[in-house]
Amino acid sequence: MKDNTKHVIVIGGGFAGINLIKHLGKDKRFIITLVDRNNYHFFPPLIYQVAAAFIEPSNISYPFRRLFQEKPHIRFHMGELKRIDPRAREVETTTGTLSYDYLVLAMGTGTNYFGFENIAKFAVPMKTLDDAMNLRNHILLRMECAVRATDPAERDKALNIVIAGGGPTGVELAGILAEMGREIVAKEYPELTDFHAHLYLVNSAPVLLPPMSTKAQREAYTVLKKLGAKIVLNTKVVDYASGNVMLSSGEAIPTDTLIWTSGVVAVRVEGLPGDAVARGGRISVDAFNRVAHTESVFALGDQCVMTDDENYPEGHPQVAQVAIQQGKLLAKNLSRMADGKPMQPFMYRDKGTMAIISKYRAVADLPKGFLRGWIAWVSWLFVHIIPLISFRNKVVLATNWAWSFVTNDPTLRLILRPSKEQKQPSTEDSKQ
Ligand SMILES: Cc1cc2nc3c(=O)[nH]c(=O)nc-3n(C[C@H](O)[C@H](O)[C@H](O)COP(=O)(O)OP(=O)(O)OC[C@H]3O[C@@H](n4cnc5c(N)ncnc54)[C@H](O)[C@@H]3O)c2cc1C
Repeated sequence: MKDNTKHVIVIGGGFAGINLIKHLGKDKRFIITLVDRNNYHFFPPLIYQVAAAFIEPSNISYPFRRLFQEKPHIRFHMGELKRIDPRAREVETTTGTLSYDYLVLAMGTGTNYFGFENIAKFAVPMKTLDDAMNLRNHILLRMECAVRATDPAERDKALNIVIAGGGPTGVELAGILAEMGREIVAKEYPELTDFHAHLYLVNSAPVLLPPMSTKAQREAYTVLKKLGAKIVLNTKVVDYASGNVMLSSGEAIPTDTLIWTSGVVAVRVEGLPGDAVARGGRISVDAFNRVAHTESVFALGDQCVMTDDENYPEGHPQVAQVAIQQGKLLAKNLSRMADGKPMQPFMYRDKGTMAIISKYRAVADLPKGFLRGWIAWVSWLFVHIIPLISFRNKVVLATNWAWSFVTNDPTLRLILRPSKEQKQPSTEDSKQ
């Protein structure tokens, strides 16, 4: 590496990491290596549509190597982070050790089961594209079981779906599964016309969509009720035992399908100074996203917590816009440092919160007011198509959506299962 170039390692190519790379990649004074456990960037807000077989995974994902085509100063290293060594300026991954001048941690969050062991073992999480495909196959297989079942109790158990968590992911998933029951299952599985009536949405709070406005909460409740979902509020899922989801009310729901959308915890990083880790495992950063007590380690997006932004003294919400805006600003700040200029502090610009609750209905809390119904749904479409990473994804997704809405017949519901457990890439010590 030339003397005047700096090597930046970015761990995690989600919203934060990829926006940092997109902008810093224009500054040829930096060589950038992205480390990710997957070989693709994906768009988490739409994985629930993949789970419901409404769109295909390739509509919302894009390979890193294709993204970095003909950009020799941006490299990709597939592997998982094991630990960092800020003194030696090295990171150890499952596939080798790399050294850096600047390190950026942007690994987001994982699922938090709050210590419920049986739930962790049994529940299907909804964080990654793998989770979404796993859930899609699982639901399709359960439907085949329900079709064959002769015992009504066995049939109910195969059809019952319990979604734990009434935040945006739980609400969006409940909406699309209820729609799927009414529009598609009824056509392809004539034996299962009551599919939508087996959907339970359980939330510990007294409302759905707790972070949103009262209008949004009421709209979500009314629309999901009309679609036939059973909404259980003020109640927690506390266990999974003998084929039943156990609720804090004492009720037991027999089911093979518990979907856990209830909580997240920041991805843990070994090697960080102990006092750099705050509530929820989030990494404490200053106003420039620099990790507390380090010189050249930064953390972005869901994985970090910043309390210096005066409008968010408890830290920013874990949403895409925070990650995107932090990624862009850090790119600018690294270039400013290279120019000998001071870095600029981060201030979040809130563009609003949206959730889709059924086929043509959404809710949107925007800085200038509240939208619902069709108009909110159209705004949601624009907001979710624009940030997709490639032109190809935007066109394919828009076409697929248009096709699905016209025909009421989205993707082909194939049950795809790996023939055997995939092995992880072998560990090889490839120092850079
Ligand atoms: C189902 C779902 C729906 C959502 N809907 C919305 C929405 O509608 N609007 C909204 O604003 N936000 C939404 N969010 C939240 C939003 O997706 C996050 O706030 C955002 O993705 C955070 O970006 P990030 O870059 O910090 O992390 P992520 O986007 O999570 O990216 C993390 C990256 O790190 C990689 N990684 C993780 N661990 C490792 C490791 N150990 N080693 C190497 N690589 C690793 C991952 O593969 C991934 O590429 C949703 C999230 C989910 C899960």
